[in-house]
Amino acid sequence: MTRNDALLGRLEAVVGRKGLIRDPGEMAPHMVEPRGLFRGQARCVVKPASTREVAEVVRLCAEAGVAVVPQGGNTGLVGGNVPFEHGGEVVLSLARMNRVRAVDPVNDTITVEAGCILQKVQEAAEAADRLFPLSLGAEGTCQIGGNLSTNAGGIQVLRYGNMRALVLGLEVVLPDGRVWNGLRALRKDNTGFDLKQLFIGGEGTLGVITAAVLRLFPRPKAKTTAFAAVRDVAAAVELLGRVRAASGEAVTSFELIPRFSLDISLKHIAGIEDPLGDAHPWYVLIELWSEVANSGLREALETVLAQAHEDGLVPDATIAANEAQAQSFWRIREAMVEAQKFEGGSIKHDVSVPISAVAAFIERSCAAVESLIPGVRAIPFGHIGDGNIHLNLSQPEGADRDAFLARWAEVNRRVHDIVAELGGSISAEHGIGRLKLEENVHYKSPVEIELMQRIKTALDPDNLMNPGKVVPGGG
Ligand SMILES: Cc1cc2nc3c(=O)[nH]c(=O)nc-3n(C[C@H](O)[C@H](O)[C@H](O)COP(=O)(O)OP(=O)(O)OC[C@H]3O[C@@H](n4cnc5c(N)ncnc54)[C@H](O)[C@@H]3O)c2cc1C
Repeated sequence: MTRNDALLGRLEAVVGRKGLIRDPGEMAPHMVEPRGLFRGQARCVVKPASTREVAEVVRLCAEAGVAVVPQGGNTGLVGGNVPFEHGGEVVLSLARMNRVRAVDPVNDTITVEAGCILQKVQEAAEAADRLFPLSLGAEGTCQIGGNLSTNAGGIQVLRYGNMRALVLGLEVVLPDGRVWNGLRALRKDNTGFDLKQLFIGGEGTLGVITAAVLRLFPRPKAKTTAFAAVRDVAAAVELLGRVRAASGEAVTSFELIPRFSLDISLKHIAGIEDPLGDAHPWYVLIELWSEVANSGLREALETVLAQAHEDGLVPDATIAANEAQAQSFWRIREAMVEAQKFEGGSIKHDVSVPISAVAAFIERSCAAVESLIPGVRAIPFGHIGDGNIHLNLSQPEGADRDAFLARWAEVNRRVHDIVAELGGSISAEHGIGRLKLEENVHYKSPVEIELMQRIKTALDPDNLMNPGKVVPGGG
């Protein structure tokens, strides 16, 4: 019996026959990430069903010197979720750890296992007349453990914060197989380092998250959604400030949409309608929520938009008359990425800058990419209220797709230089994984990279927990 067979035998003894996948066909979906940028191989996919089983699997792998790749819903976009090509790793899927352990409406918390699908957690919160506010395009597939490990953001960060802000406690299996029970449900706990923050956004490099205590909120009783044309990006930022001043924390989403994006959505995606009569270069989708039924939000927004119109910031705007119309505004936002696929290859950026620098970033980066690739079609869009811009670049019309995509790294570097000059981040939402590992080392100071390496070595001295992701040092 080979050493590999011996390890697989021990793993099967822990998770049972249905918890160990070796059939190449069944393993295949676990070996590639959504955009197909990274494709790997593994010894097996193991699916433990309890924290004890996760701990035992990790301990056995550590004992055998075999690296573990934690995997949630496999929707991550930077390659942290899939194994390397060499095939020597074990993929540890959390899919069977999908129980809601407890809901505490008095404490406004829900305790869930890491393999719970995000949508299931939203539904469990709703059943208790509460809101779990994390919301993103992949919510029907991604898991809480993956959301935590990538510190996921999405469309309501402006009001509720990203995943880091939504967690009170974690349970984690450490790289040596020990369990850290940090499942506290406390809003105040000043007893030393806040260890859970190391694992949030850690992309599975420091341990396997097995459960979490998440914060719940009152459900909104009133929503107001507007679609407004804005003179330019600076006007969008100015409008954000005015809407916040008029409605306080009610601003839940504030999304930037360029005209080109609406044009290609109208062209390629069924059911999209232009809510305004004339074409304008930029739009914002604004949504305000209140826990109070007669909140006066609509009137407040009307007043702000009317004044902004008078001041030349907003040439035209409409407020949704009902839920169906609000949904039709959101369909425009959601169709953007899909519509781009019909326009050939696209080079992507997921960056953030201070909100005060958003207009300068978009102006400078669009000019820079145009000078690099004349005719490139820039689509800067997204969560402008968080300073997070997804700068997607569609290839020039009629250009060769492969030749365009071959310039990905060169274009990224040019855009990221501008981000760095403006004090921004080269990864606002999706993380580092494999895709941005070198880029991260390039932009972070040597001191910061060394601190990250020291933390990694302290928790995972043998570099067996998702090696070669986030922190430089082999895979
Ligand atoms: C259509 C679409 C829309 C998206 N929209 C957004 C968005 O708006 N905002 C946003 O932030 N992201 C977005 N994403 C990216 C992605 O959905 C998120 O990063 C998500 O949080 C990943 O969750 P997952 O369960 O799929 O994790 P995976 O992809 O399986 O894993 C992601 C990383 O976390 C690690 N990991 C997973 N589970 C665990 C665990 N239990 N313990 C330790 N490590 C673990 C993996 O090793 C990997 O490094 C989107 C992706 C898609 C495909």
